[in-house]
Amino acid sequence: MSRCLVTGGAGFIGAHVVRALADEGHEVVVLDDLSGGFRDNVDDRARLVVGSAAVVDDVTKVFSEGPVDYVFHLAAYAAEGLSHFIKRFNYENNLIASVNLINASVNAGVRCFVFTSSIAVYGAGQVPMSEDMIPQPEDSYGIAKYAVEQELRATHKMFGLPYVIFRPHNVYGELQNTGDPYRNVIGIFINQILRGEPLSIFGDGEQTRAFTYIADVAPVIARAAFHPEAYAETFNVGAEVPYTVNHLASVVRYAMDVPDHPVIHHAERSEVKHAFSDHSKVQGVFGVPPPVPLEQGISHMVRWARRVGPRTSKPFSAIEIPRGLPESWKALTDDVAPPSGRQ
Ligand code: NAD
Repeated sequence: MSRCLVTGGAGFIGAHVVRALADEGHEVVVLDDLSGGFRDNVDDRARLVVGSAAVVDDVTKVFSEGPVDYVFHLAAYAAEGLSHFIKRFNYENNLIASVNLINASVNAGVRCFVFTSSIAVYGAGQVPMSEDMIPQPEDSYGIAKYAVEQELRATHKMFGLPYVIFRPHNVYGELQNTGDPYRNVIGIFINQILRGEPLSIFGDGEQTRAFTYIADVAPVIARAAFHPEAYAETFNVGAEVPYTVNHLASVVRYAMDVPDHPVIHHAERSEVKHAFSDHSKVQGVFGVPPPVPLEQGISHMVRWARRVGPRTSKPFSAIEIPRGLPESWKALTDDVAPPSGRQ
């Protein structure tokens, strides 16, 4: 049995990773500031430390409480589209926080550091995106993720810290924060239907993504630290088949028995038009099963979301560059006083 630190373990993917680790008999400590996660998401077998990876003292405290064998770093604010407008927050929360954890991991002699990057690192390059392409991220979120990847490579070379990097994409499923208005389109659609609001689509809805059910991602991430063949490697992970956002809207409407639920189209926003990736590498090393089909994954999520009920939106309160912010997002923040970060 090992002692594992899961950052972001009160969040969506992190909570599933915590469960998978606890199922294997590992002792799990979660570090989460609850900015986007929920206390209830944390498995009873894990210990939750409420604190931020961006705060050095919080990281020091969690590492001083006992040995940390493995780190699974999932904490981040993953609002890719919003990251253009919250650059400083993005780098503090997603890059500097990661560096805090890398420093502590080197000093504590951690056996493996597992990091969830993103296909956002690829930018608008060729599809399918494959691990041997040179990343060209186009937004601050992707740049921060790629910087952490490079930092892990440099730290491995300099100090020998083993690492595994995953680049998931468009993950959905039970325990996701359906109340975040800036990210997780499936959660947003489900929440909009539960709240009796029209589905909102940016642009013509013909942008494509391969939407990934949580069961196709979390178990692989949890296994990675115990898989030395994966050390110092980077893996795409997730679903294969790209769908348009328009098709996705239909699947969600059917799954919720409201096939004619209204849709409104907002102005296009700055985003990669087509994004899906090749998964032969993760297949080869981990032998992952075929991905869960979209309709099936969505029906599982809908069943859970109906139980949880609608969630209220949490507008981001400290936009750093208001210029160019999509109108629908501007409307969310107009009423919010400007404090120092997320609410
Ligand atoms: P999530 O928002 O549900 O979970 C993130 C968790 O991190 C939340 O519980 C939040 O409270 C916590 N957190 C945020 N900043 C923190 C900080 N500074 N210190 C401590 N805790 C902090 O997001 P998710 O979808 O579960 O994403 C998990 C990871 O996977 C993230 O690193 C994200 O970038 C990455 N990822 C997610 C997707 C996806 O489609 N969901 C795709 C690619 C990569």
